[in-house]
Amino acid sequence: MALVINCNACHKKFKIPEKAATRIDLEQISGEYFRKTCLHCCVEKEYHINDVEAEADHTAKIISASVGIGIIFLVTLFAWGKGLVTNAGLVIGGAIIAAGWMAGSSTDNFNQYKTNRSRDVERDRQIREEMKYRKGDTNFEV
Ligand SMILES: [Zn+2]
Repeated sequence: MALVINCNACHKKFKIPEKAATRIDLEQISGEYFRKTCLHCCVEKEYHINDVEAEADHTAKIISASVGIGIIFLVTLFAWGKGLVTNAGLVIGGAIIAAGWMAGSSTDNFNQYKTNRSRDVERDRQIREEMKYRKGDTNFEV
């Protein structure tokens, strides 16, 4: 699983180096708001943790698939050489492929949960206060 941000300047996705399983974990590492430089256009912008998305990591899938197939092949070859017939290689190799596939795909934990943007809430409160103030002003004139 890789964490990516959609760049505000060039609208391309770029990876961030932070490793976090959930958005809460990421907030503890980077804070709610943080600055990141886009790898494509090199523009530094401020982002919120809700701007971060988890993407399935295809490298993890490919590596685990190669290792899994390698183990199936080696164990089967070894067992064959000993005159044995075994499914052990198939089971172990299959488990590694499955685990790698799940690790590479498990983006739901991250993407499902979003936090409230505290700054937006604060701005909403300010706007409401201003409206109240203006209303009060009009009433005063009338
Ligand atoms: Zn960019």
